[in-house]
Amino acid sequence: MLELEKAIEVLQEAAGPVKETELLPLAEAAGRVLAEDIRAAYDQPPFDRSPLDGYAVRGEDTLSASDQQPVSLQVLGKIYAGQVFTGTVDKGQCVRLMTGSPIPEGADAVVRQEDTDFKPGQDQAGQVNIFKGVAPWQNYVYAGEDYHKGDLLLEKGTVLKGMQLGIIAGSGRDQVEVYRQPVITVISTGDEVVAPGGPLEAGKIYDANRFTVLGRLADLGFRKLESCHCQDDPEIMEDRIREAAKRSDLIITTGGVSVGEKDIMHQVMADLHGDKLFWRVSLKPGAPTLAFLTGERSVPVICLTGNPYGVAVNFELLVRPVLEKMSGNPAVRSKTRQCRLVNDSPKRGGVRRFMRGSYDEEEGQVRILTGSHASGTLSSMAASNCLVEIPGNGSGRAGDKVRVYLL
Ligand code: AMP
Ligand code: MG
Repeated sequence: MLELEKAIEVLQEAAGPVKETELLPLAEAAGRVLAEDIRAAYDQPPFDRSPLDGYAVRGEDTLSASDQQPVSLQVLGKIYAGQVFTGTVDKGQCVRLMTGSPIPEGADAVVRQEDTDFKPGQDQAGQVNIFKGVAPWQNYVYAGEDYHKGDLLLEKGTVLKGMQLGIIAGSGRDQVEVYRQPVITVISTGDEVVAPGGPLEAGKIYDANRFTVLGRLADLGFRKLESCHCQDDPEIMEDRIREAAKRSDLIITTGGVSVGEKDIMHQVMADLHGDKLFWRVSLKPGAPTLAFLTGERSVPVICLTGNPYGVAVNFELLVRPVLEKMSGNPAVRSKTRQCRLVNDSPKRGGVRRFMRGSYDEEEGQVRILTGSHASGTLSSMAASNCLVEIPGNGSGRAGDKVRVYLL
């Protein structure tokens, strides 16, 4: 039996990062990983501009201004953001302008509208009185204040969130090169397992696992997903995996990995001449996880237990690190916290266990949910926001420090 950390290491080594890239419209690139450096094609802002509504002046002209002795300047004209004033501001002159307007030639500062006798709708009659002076270069935004042409804005490998998309758009790009998403195939197994939506005959159960795995993949931003259910027939399963391995980067199966007569995945691996990575990990639930590589592209196949809770736990612990490696997105890995356990774990000692918990970020503590902890039950996951790790050393009492994996 492998320790969890070792199993993660083996899987991460086997799973290569996706190297192919694609060009995406910016609006579709959220959550994706940049496959190029983004450099500025222009200075930002591209021109010297006004940070406020007011008057572009020569600062020197206004220095003596006060409420008692305002300075009167000749207003040459008015520009809004997006317009350019073509003349030059000489001694005793100014231009009325709005936030974001280019500062005209000759001017070196901007007086706030509030520090003048400007009144909305009032005709300025070509003159404005300034009550408070500005020094040269006051209220003056230089071209390139944010960044200069050629500056590195974002590095290859950056995960694109909203702010990053804004930065790219601000630099003038509408498309961006990102790594393509891994294609992931999910196959649930079990003669007793039937698709939800149909009738439930005696002895059958609905397929929860396929949708747990697909749903969690979608939660993490993966969209290139395929899935199916397969009977406990090794030959059919082999075909399914062989086919999936041609177009997938990762295959996840559920069920059939224990030691029962219908636990077909061992035979499937052997018949496919799979390159075995490991069978069995030292944890509960989901110990009998099997992993191997198959096909010309050595696609990792991670075969999880059929127990729904075991599937959920092993997805968080084992599959997410593989997804992190493939996608190059560190956010895909589970976040962990150390915190205080507020109640006794109903199970302690023996093997390392992962229990459903409710983590309180503000209090820095976690409560193990009461109710069923059987590995076959899933409904109690709905109230759970984390997995609580109870080490096999007998700890797990109220007050102990434990590690939680946030869901
Ligand atoms: P297995 O690992 O195939 O022996 O399955 C273990 C337990 O999980 C059995 O009780 C199965 O009926 C149940 N199970 C297997 N696959 C699924 C599934 N896709 N959805 C819900 N329960 C399942
Ligand atoms: Mg089964």
